[in-house]
Amino acid sequence: MSEDYQYKDRDVKKDPAREFRFGEGRISGVLSLTLGILSLLAVFAYLYPSYLTTTDLRKVYDASALQTVLKYGMYFSLLFGCLTLVLNKARYKYFGLAGIGLTLIGFALGGYKIPVGAVEPKELSLGVDWLILAFLGSTAIFMILEKLFPKYPDQAIMRPEWDVDLFYFTFNHLAISAILIFGNYHATHFDWALSPSFQETIQSIPISLQVILIILSADFVLYWEHRAFHETKWLWPVHAVHHSIEHIDWLAGSRGHFIQVFSERAMVMIPLYLLGADEAALNIYVVFAALQAILIHTNLSIPFGPLKYIFVTPQFHHWHHSSEKPAIDTNYSAHLVIFDKLFGTYHLPGKHWPAEYGTTKRLPRTVVGQLLHPFFPNKTTDIRNDK
Ligand SMILES: [Zn+2]
Repeated sequence: MSEDYQYKDRDVKKDPAREFRFGEGRISGVLSLTLGILSLLAVFAYLYPSYLTTTDLRKVYDASALQTVLKYGMYFSLLFGCLTLVLNKARYKYFGLAGIGLTLIGFALGGYKIPVGAVEPKELSLGVDWLILAFLGSTAIFMILEKLFPKYPDQAIMRPEWDVDLFYFTFNHLAISAILIFGNYHATHFDWALSPSFQETIQSIPISLQVILIILSADFVLYWEHRAFHETKWLWPVHAVHHSIEHIDWLAGSRGHFIQVFSERAMVMIPLYLLGADEAALNIYVVFAALQAILIHTNLSIPFGPLKYIFVTPQFHHWHHSSEKPAIDTNYSAHLVIFDKLFGTYHLPGKHWPAEYGTTKRLPRTVVGQLLHPFFPNKTTDIRNDK
């Protein structure tokens, strides 16, 4: 069927109302407000680390060194805020005022000089530190890459529904400890399948091979879990929330119903728990998986060469998000394309990219509507056309 299909190019038009232009005060206003919000969140995390930081993440960063980052974040928020006021253009001055106001509250609460002491670990906490670091890291890597090598140069950073996706990004990061607790608890249901001798064998092989084994076994589980979400009638409305994105970039991949976020983590924990690989191999996998999950949604046209026939790349995963007929229910893999090849769901038509993204039956456009959608799938669906 796909040989006869007429592939079209995606038409992305410039949207002047959403663009950033120098001299308008919008860039400095948004930067001031963003840094003001992040700084105030960081100040609260320093004040209440037991409740607002992540036990596992604290082991990998130096809280004292990050105070320097906070210091510059606060000063730059003030600087950009003042620049916005000097430019004094329309409503953007309120962004600058808000940025300055939030930063001054941060200073009043102790700012970057709050003493860093021992932290009483709490099992359940909010991942404010994970949210801030992931946001700074993702924007530094992926937003810059998207500006340097965009697939669609005219797609704005603040494209339609960026705020909806930012909500999901924030929720997924704040809830990290609850997601991990649930995932670890779920894995213990498979204690009966644990084999110490099998785990010893796994640990005796080189780390690089352990990483490959983890990727293959995790991807096998993720493939079938993902396929079940697509091909089971009562599961699809949950996963459809992730597919409701119609403008894809690094942030769009965060959109997903919390039921899916929790169940995905619980499923992938099973092979990781049973393999019992070295911590070094697990850490490499976690970083690889986290970066790849963002990368495959980016608005990026880096040529991956032959690697695109091994790894899941943006072009491959963008096809998974297409509402065009030949692409529906294809490209389920998260890491490697091998399982789509093996199980007959592979779709990568040469150099073509999708012209249309989203679901064939349009979902609500608000977070509340999307969260309710799985419970009332017929009431909250706006029928655009049939599959
Ligand atoms: Zn999917």
